[in-house]
Amino acid sequence: MSKSIRVYSPASVSNVTCGFDVLGFAIEKPGDIILAEQGGKPGVRIKEIVGSDSIPLNPLENVASVAAQALVNHIDPKIGIDLTIYKNIKPGSGIGSSASSAVAATFAANQLLGTPIKNTFDLIPFAMQGEQIASGAFHADNVAPALLGGFIIVRSNDPLDVVQLGAPPDLYTVVIHPDVQIKTSESRKLLPGQVPLKSLVTQTGNLAGLVAGLLQHDYSLIGRSMHDVIIEPVRASTIPGFVELKSAALHAGALGAGISGSGPSVFALCKGEISAHKVHDEMKIAYESFNIKFDSYISPINKKGTIQIID
Ligand code: ADP
Repeated sequence: MSKSIRVYSPASVSNVTCGFDVLGFAIEKPGDIILAEQGGKPGVRIKEIVGSDSIPLNPLENVASVAAQALVNHIDPKIGIDLTIYKNIKPGSGIGSSASSAVAATFAANQLLGTPIKNTFDLIPFAMQGEQIASGAFHADNVAPALLGGFIIVRSNDPLDVVQLGAPPDLYTVVIHPDVQIKTSESRKLLPGQVPLKSLVTQTGNLAGLVAGLLQHDYSLIGRSMHDVIIEPVRASTIPGFVELKSAALHAGALGAGISGSGPSVFALCKGEISAHKVHDEMKIAYESFNIKFDSYISPINKKGTIQIID
């Protein structure tokens, strides 16, 4: 067993317009860092949280410790691990803040224990157990991209069946994160219980087109497919300035844009870095009149997922 392991796990965008609950991708930055160290007593504890005073120190309430504990329980409950969380993704951002912590902790614990779980894929269910306490749902649409990188289809959460799609080489994302809090668990309450057949057909056509576009590196098809006729219409009003942000992105040449996760972050996909910078600048200008603080990110699609940081 190593003495300590440091791990980086990236933020991620889930839903990706027409892919509600089944599609997600990882971005290069921001991302959480977790240091896992051998603990003196059995169980996973949180030694320190750096960068956030809003997430719980109680190991039963923090997704990182719950995820790592799930792995420890599976391997040997007598093991003790201390976690230090360097929180770089704001909680409730809609870019997989909780998933990043849950994945980083699971990955770090597995490395610390000498990789008893050989296949990285098999770490997903442990991270999902952590993520579940944040979102109230057992789902992999942020966890799997954060762990594996690239675009991921979650064909099924239970039994787990995730498919790695990789990413077209020139695909970039722009994310605007307004400083307002939307809890995933609250935002889910807005969702319709039933969906008209016509909307379902439009949505599945778009999702099929988006997946094909991603696999064939067909940027035009990606753009034509990025429409959400089911979720975005009910959630858009929860994000101040969503309409303006989306229209600024499309006007500046983005392939498409939509809500990241359940918001409040808004993302755009762009072909190439130059286009991404243009889209980023236009989205920023559009948002400045709202008098809401925001963070913004330009990033290629992260293809590596979670990695150990070697000091
Ligand atoms: P996000 O999509 O940004 O992860 P969620 O609403 O799904 O947002 O999760 C945020 C919730 O999870 C907050 O209530 C937060 O306190 C809780 N939480 C518990 N542990 C963590 C953690 N390590 N990182 C982020 N959020 C956490």
